[in-house]
Amino acid sequence: MSSKRRILDRLPLTKAPCPRCKLEQNIVVKHCLEEEISHENTLLPTLVKRFALLECAGCNTLFQALGTERKGPLSISISPAKNLESIESTLHWEFFPEPQWRELPKWMSQVFAQKYEALYGLLVDTYGAANRDANILCAMGVRTCFDIVGELLGIDPELSFSDKIEALRREGHISPREKKVLKILVDTGSAAAHRGWEPDRNDLSALLDALETFLHHSIILPQDLDQLSVKIPARKTLQD
Ligand SMILES: [Zn+2]
Repeated sequence: MSSKRRILDRLPLTKAPCPRCKLEQNIVVKHCLEEEISHENTLLPTLVKRFALLECAGCNTLFQALGTERKGPLSISISPAKNLESIESTLHWEFFPEPQWRELPKWMSQVFAQKYEALYGLLVDTYGAANRDANILCAMGVRTCFDIVGELLGIDPELSFSDKIEALRREGHISPREKKVLKILVDTGSAAAHRGWEPDRNDLSALLDALETFLHHSIILPQDLDQLSVKIPARKTLQD
């Protein structure tokens, strides 16, 4: 096996998915290196890898591309009557970082990463599943996040999901309207976990919106209000 490297001054790529714009954009190729790996056995395909540093023409974000191409042999004859399937030249591009369909909100990373590690780890996995189109896993993750938050708020973990939601309402963590939303969120996760139902992206978007609202209302907002109440100057008495 041998490999040859060379710097390319051009690349057959004019558009790429920008991780910041989250859409296909025109690109400027800043640098590109090609590596060709070939085998002594000429029946094996040659592997060509292209490493490129790209700049989005829309927002100037720099990101990377890896192109992999297998070249020939186009046809291998192993007997007069039978040919192995042709190995055609194929070019496959991957981009780093990949545009994320749904990103973890900043407040989740800031608060949960330090205070609630288990919850944060599960949130990272749940959003990761959403971005990899693992929709069933994402829906199950949303339901489990709800379960963990319920426990953080002091709800008995032995209760059924339905009773947990009612306990959250009774103890003032959620409004009657939010109770309805959470019931849908939990039912969706159960259908995905036990009945093989696969939500689509619109469904996931609604689920993640509901989860974010629940987390923000039940954990972030009470903490922010506690901090605010400490800063408010006391009212002056009449004697002052
Ligand atoms: Zn961009």
